[in-house]
This record gives sequence, C-alpha cells and structure tokens, in this order.
Amino acid sequence: MSWDFETEPEYQKKLDWARDFVREEVEPLDYLYPHGQFVPMDETKHKIIDPLKDQVRAQGLWATHLGPELGGEGFGQLKLALLNEILGRSPWASTVFGTQAPDTGNAEIIAHYGTPEQKERYLQPLLHGEMFSSYSMTEPQGGADPTQFTTRAVKDGDEWVLNGWKYFSSNAKTASFLIVMAVTNPDISPYKGMSMFLVPTDTPGVNIVRNVGLYGEPIDEGWHALIHYEDVRVPAEGLLGGEGQAFVIAQTRLGGGRIHHAMRTIGMAQKAIDMMCERALSRHTAGSLLADKQFVQGYIADSYAQLAQFRLFVLYTAWEIDKYNDYKRVRKDIATAKVVMPTLLHDIAWRAMQVHGALGTTNEMPFFQMIHGAGVMGLADGPTEVHKATVARQILRDYRGTDEMWPTEWIPGKIDDAKAKYAQYLELEVGNL
Ligand SMILES: Cc1cc2nc3c(=O)[nH]c(=O)nc-3n(C[C@H](O)[C@H](O)[C@H](O)COP(=O)(O)OP(=O)(O)OC[C@H]3O[C@@H](n4cnc5c(N)ncnc54)[C@H](O)[C@@H]3O)c2cc1C
Repeated sequence: MSWDFETEPEYQKKLDWARDFVREEVEPLDYLYPHGQFVPMDETKHKIIDPLKDQVRAQGLWATHLGPELGGEGFGQLKLALLNEILGRSPWASTVFGTQAPDTGNAEIIAHYGTPEQKERYLQPLLHGEMFSSYSMTEPQGGADPTQFTTRAVKDGDEWVLNGWKYFSSNAKTASFLIVMAVTNPDISPYKGMSMFLVPTDTPGVNIVRNVGLYGEPIDEGWHALIHYEDVRVPAEGLLGGEGQAFVIAQTRLGGGRIHHAMRTIGMAQKAIDMMCERALSRHTAGSLLADKQFVQGYIADSYAQLAQFRLFVLYTAWEIDKYNDYKRVRKDIATAKVVMPTLLHDIAWRAMQVHGALGTTNEMPFFQMIHGAGVMGLADGPTEVHKATVARQILRDYRGTDEMWPTEWIPGKIDDAKAKYAQYLELEVGNL
C-alpha cells in the first residue's frame, strides 16, 4: 500500500530552499522588470539573472520537467507540481528555473518529435534560455475548433510554402522561431491532414501585422501576434514530426502546458489567500478586526477549501502522468483541472480583493491582474466549455444506457429485486410469525 502525502525529506529541503529563494531573490524581478521575461536580456539583466539561474542549477532544480538527456533533472510531473506551486507566486520564477511557458511546451514537443538537427538548432538554446519560441496555431476565424484552420503548406521541390493567418501567437515578437500548424492535405480528415513546421521568425514572408494586447496594455504593444504568413518558404527539414502529425503533436504539447498552468495557479491562489489573511488580521472596522467578521471568515474558509481540493487534484493528476507516461490516458483529469482553474483563481482573488476594500481594486495591488489572468485561463489552451465537453465524454464512456422503462436505481424496482433476492429468508420470517 503506498498512498502517501509526504514529500521525501531530500526533495522537501530543495522545496524549502526554492520557497525562500523565490520570495527573496526572484520576486523583486517582478517589480524591476514587469512583463520582462520574454524580452531578450541586456547586460544588466544578464548580471542579475544569470547567477540566479546558476543557483537553481546548483540546487539541481533547473528544468526539472525534462529528462537528464535534455539537461533537466528528470523529476517528473509530481515533483514539478510541488515546485511549480512555489514558482506560481512570481511571473519571473519560471524563467529563472527553466520552466517558462510557452517555451516548456514547445521544448517538450521538439524533444519528443524533433530530429537530432532540430534539437541542436532549437531545443538546446531554448533549454538554456538563450532564445524564445512561439506556438502559432490559433487562426482569426477559429481557435477552439482546429478543423477550421486554413493556413496552408504546399510542397514545392525540397521546400514547403506556407500561406495564411495566425492569431494570438504569444511572444512571437521576441521569439527566434515559431511552431506553425498548417494544412498539408486538404483532401483528408483535418486530424490527419495537418502538419507542424519549425519556422525561424526572420524568414521572409513572416509578417507580424499587430501585437495584440490584453486588457490594460496599450493597443499594438501587446504580446499576442496576429501573423500573416505570405509565401513563407520552409525547407523540408523544417517539418516537425511526420507529415499529418500536427494533432498528435498538439495534444502532447497542450496536455503538458495545461497541467503546468494548473500547478502554477495553486501558487498564485495561495498568494491571494496569504494577502487576504494578512489584511483580515490587520484592519479594524466596526469594533473588531476583519478577521472576526463572519463574512470574512467565510471568504477565508471557502478559499482554503477550494484551493485544498484543487491542489490535491492537481497533484494526483501529476502523479497519474508520471505513472502512465501518457497525457492522452490522463486527458480527463487534465481537462478537469483546466476547467476548475479559472473559477478557482477568480473566486479567491475576488474575495481577497474585496477584503482589501478600495485598495484592492487599484493597480497598486495585484488582484485585478489575477482576476484578469483567470479570464485568460478560461480561453488560452482551449475554452472551458470545450474542456467540459471532453470531461463529460470521457466520463460517459464508462457508462451504458438502459433499455428498461425505469432507471436502474428506480426504488420500487429495487425493493422488488431485494425481496426476490432474500425471498427464502423472508418467507421463513413470515412462517415464524
Ligand atoms: C492570453 C492568451 C494566449 C494565447 N496564446 C496562444 C498561443 O501562443 N498560440 C496559439 O495558437 N493560440 C493562443 N491562444 C489562443 C487560444 O488557444 C484560443 O483563444 C482558444 O483556443 C479559443 O479560440 P477563440 O479565441 O478563437 O474562441 P472561439 O473558438 O471563437 O470560441 C469562443 C467561445 O465560443 C464558445 N465555444 C467554442 N467552442 C465551443 C464548443 N465546442 N462548445 C461550446 N462552446 C464553445 C466558448 O464560450 C468559447 O469561449 C491564446 C489565447 C489567450 C487568451
């Protein structure tokens, strides 16, 4: 019987180190360089950040999601979950620990499907944090339904020629290369007729038309590119995986990406609870501390309960991924975590904001940013509704309908069945009377 909720002492020590390190050394970067994780580093940044990365490496905590053959520690998802919930407190932390999305997901698929040449050219610099990457899949006319994608790649001698539009290619403006999903055979099912390409961002014809910003960011100074691919020529070696493998590759990438977001969300939600509790114990109003008001106690208890459930579920899902080494097999639970995540963060951040009064709504506190992040989480990597449908479909696979007039659990039928089952005893009982 092994069903253990304890972390082995050696790894716990590393986690304790990481917790202090993130708070003391890394969180200041969030205020020094807000949103700066994907901006190529200048000399000053190198001086500050390189030694921090060295400390992470010295602790054996660099890129823990990757196997040793790729320069990681091969810890697997469960250990990564425990680490990621610490890193989730700080936007910069994943960069300093070599686990920054979307580069982690992109690295993972190149590691899985890339040729040795592709790995050398793209994977190694990605892993060393020397370049950024962008995943270019969503199109303006349809994101949740990839069967609507129209970006086309046509073979021309030894090259592929790409044409089409992509939307929300995050970080494309500083990425060295893009992973582009395109239709290679329109005559068969899209599930088999699309392929992935590795395209250097400076390839002629890769036109970033606009850098779409999220709410609060100036127009055209955001991070999510609208890209027009116009006669972009990609050599045959730019094909990632086999022709027609795009859907399989996308599932590999998105499965990991979704659960990693969930892990980091635990850290963010915990930070909101920490702030809520501090405020509740600091602020006096109407004769008592906020912490003594039952409504506020309710906020704290509800937040704790929501997060405790979510955290255990995410850890369990991570454990499943390690056990089966197969995202597809764990799809239902990854989708469930993805569905729960936005509401969880929204609810907890909202309560924490409320407890802070007017201050909570300002840009001097991080609550709206968290709430906004929750909204984004309900869409990025696929809308909540689509994931709910996935969860339901997977659950329904284990059930069968009944041809009977009444449901199986219909109580009058159950009573008749029970009487029939124990009829001989019941008859005796009657006989003894
Ligand atoms: C911050 C952020 C970063 C992103 N980064 C990337 C990236 O790097 N690369 C990339 O390729 N994409 C990226 N995306 C795009 C993301 O994957 C898409 O937004 C997502 O797949 C939804 O597509 P859509 O926006 O076109 O919405 P639509 O497909 O138009 O869906 C809109 C709404 O319709 C409803 N809906 C859709 N389908 C169904 C259904 N089957 N059943 C019920 N209701 C449904 C839902 O309410 C859904 O929210 C990012 C998005 C965000 C917000």
